[in-house]
Amino acid sequence: RAKEQGGGRLEVYAADMHAQVVGRLELQARLRQALADREFTLEYQPVVDLESSQVTAVEALVRWRRTEEGDDGEAVERLLLPEEFIGAAEESGLIVPLGEWVLREACAKVALWRAAEWDIGLSVNLSVRQILSSRFVETVADALEESGLPARVLTLEVDEEVLLEDPGEAVERLSALRRLGVRLAIDDFGMGYASLAHLRELRVDEIKIDPSFVRDLGADGTVTLLTHTIVRLGQDLGVQVVAEGIERPEQLEKLRSMGCGHGQGFLVARPMAAEGVEALVGGGAGIPL
Ligand code: C2E
Ligand code: MG
Ligand code: MG
Ligand code: MG
Repeated sequence: RAKEQGGGRLEVYAADMHAQVVGRLELQARLRQALADREFTLEYQPVVDLESSQVTAVEALVRWRRTEEGDDGEAVERLLLPEEFIGAAEESGLIVPLGEWVLREACAKVALWRAAEWDIGLSVNLSVRQILSSRFVETVADALEESGLPARVLTLEVDEEVLLEDPGEAVERLSALRRLGVRLAIDDFGMGYASLAHLRELRVDEIKIDPSFVRDLGADGTVTLLTHTIVRLGQDLGVQVVAEGIERPEQLEKLRSMGCGHGQGFLVARPMAAEGVEALVGGGAGIPL
């Protein structure tokens, strides 16, 4: 009987796996169609200089504007966040054309803002698959050339995963990008086991402190000490430090008192459509903090 039960459980498990695989394939097919139908859109989240409260850059964050059937059978529009589709885009390789679209779209938008005398920078996130794809360095160079955006105002964000899969090749590609004049940032710094080692392998211009540190600032002594250490490390290395996920005024105050240069988070501004950014801080208005 035990065996029967076990077998039954195995069947349920297999059916579950099957459903999951089918679900993933369906999602990948929908993503491909969505790219052709131009259903992707970008939101931008302001990054501020914590001392002056001036917006120094925006981070481009991809969203999928998807039409779905609601409960009552009517069409409803949903804005999907990356966590719902980036994994599938990476698995299917679709992240390569999607990432290229993100890069072109964001560079063009920020070039327009800069043409209107607004001195603003741009950060774009990269996945491993993108960096290791053939012609990636050319893709970045093309996006810069077409938009007229100067290389030095573009920051490419990578997380540690990028340096784990094929470190030699990834470092090679990222160094080539840096030679183009583009800035490099390590995203989610402090979360990986080898954050410090990677600073040796790769020359970066910016470190983004993971939100999990910012969340427990002040409340957890160890976390506060670690955050302060990362801020000092950045200062000693001459690397810009950006704290991510600032939601409460106490966190902002703590970061300021530590001398953390830049910050980003819901307290400062949420990610928003380009028009929202223009309305809020377009032309260089600061954010009262
Ligand atoms: P990330 O690069 O670390 O981006 C920051 C994420 O934190 C964004 O989530 C942003 O909305 C969120 N966030 C900002 N401030 C706060 C805050 O105060 N509190 C909280 N709870 N969250 C905050 P989002 O837009 O959902 O993006 C998630 C991740 O998806 C990004 O993490 C990035 O790794 C990836 N991603 C986004 N856009 C792209 C893209 O165009 N290409 C690639 N390859 N990955 C992307
Ligand atoms: Mg990022
Ligand atoms: Mg990231
Ligand atoms: Mg991050």
